[in-house]
Amino acid sequence: MQVRREVEELDPYVPGRSKEEIAQEFGVKKEDIIKLGSNENPWGPSPKVKEAIEEELKNINRYPESDVEALKKEFAKYSNVSPEQIIVGGDGADELIDTLAKTFIEKGDEFIVPLPSYMYYEFLFKPYGAIPHYARWNLETNTLDLDSVLDAINEKTKMLFLCSPNNPTGALISQDEFRAILNKTSKSKGGVCDALVVIDEAYFEYSETTNVNLLDEYDNIFIIRTMSKVLGLAGMRIGYGISSKEIIEYMHRIKPVFSLTKLSYVAALTTMQDKEYIEESIKKGIESREYLYNEINKMKSVKVYKSYSNFMLIDIHDTGFTAAELTKEFMKRGMIVRDCTSFKGIDEYYIRISICTLEEDAKFIEAMKDILNE
Ligand SMILES: *Cc1c(COP(=O)(O)O)cnc(C)c1O
Repeated sequence: MQVRREVEELDPYVPGRSKEEIAQEFGVKKEDIIKLGSNENPWGPSPKVKEAIEEELKNINRYPESDVEALKKEFAKYSNVSPEQIIVGGDGADELIDTLAKTFIEKGDEFIVPLPSYMYYEFLFKPYGAIPHYARWNLETNTLDLDSVLDAINEKTKMLFLCSPNNPTGALISQDEFRAILNKTSKSKGGVCDALVVIDEAYFEYSETTNVNLLDEYDNIFIIRTMSKVLGLAGMRIGYGISSKEIIEYMHRIKPVFSLTKLSYVAALTTMQDKEYIEESIKKGIESREYLYNEINKMKSVKVYKSYSNFMLIDIHDTGFTAAELTKEFMKRGMIVRDCTSFKGIDEYYIRISICTLEEDAKFIEAMKDILNE
């Protein structure tokens, strides 16, 4: 059978490795594995979630709600916008990226991504016949190369993906930079095209900044958020998006209707109502990040990038290891780190690690010193 050309030519997405895989492959006990590969919340979900899910189990013979009104209200309150500006995704934020493509992309439209960044954007957009144009992050200064983004914008540009804090570099894009990009992508502001500027705030809590205020000035913004990171629900697959009422209304027409399961719905609602859990998760996350950064920064053979997120990029050019080799050394010791070789825009000498509990962090630092003879 002949499949569509876009599918035939698609590079597979390479996710972080799971505990199950590593336990099998390296003969280590699953319970002992320390996972620093996928930017999750290491302290688990809100303790109230377990009870809420147990209570809801008796109702799973019924279809879920389709308009998830109460949850939209929670996200709206959390984000300081109105509920009509919110859309909820049931395969995480990734579902909303797909919905963006379904809503806006005609074959041949161009989208811009500064590299290195989250690889899932192009994985989801290429099947729709959209064409990626790459701009750059400057790894010397760990800032966005703004000119490379502005230069990439033309009449065919339909969307831009700007991740802030950026995965995997951890750096932020400033509001001046966003304004420069937004002005060039809105015809009403004298720009060369009408393109949607997607601001991916999957990790915004760890940076203690947001770009929601820009929605008051521009109507071509879509902000991506997720419950998979600081909010501790990666396994439940819940994301949300914030934009103008008009864009959200169009997206609702095409989004899968029942993608948020009943169990995910109560888990999400319970977490958003547990303010104490959210605050604690942010505080502990930042503390863990600063600990890891300071310890790794003392090592001579690596360069660690300052991060406003719950992970950090490490340049390992001077260690004598490739990322694949170093990742393997960690796996032998029961630790999962992210080999960044599959990220476009960087070579095979970078790894990314994410926060763990302070106890696990200390074990990781010990292992790293041991492997690198630091
Ligand atoms: C994790 C992540 C997401 C979304 O993840 P979901 O689990 O699908 O909600 C989006 N963008 C970036 C940059 C991420 O790292």
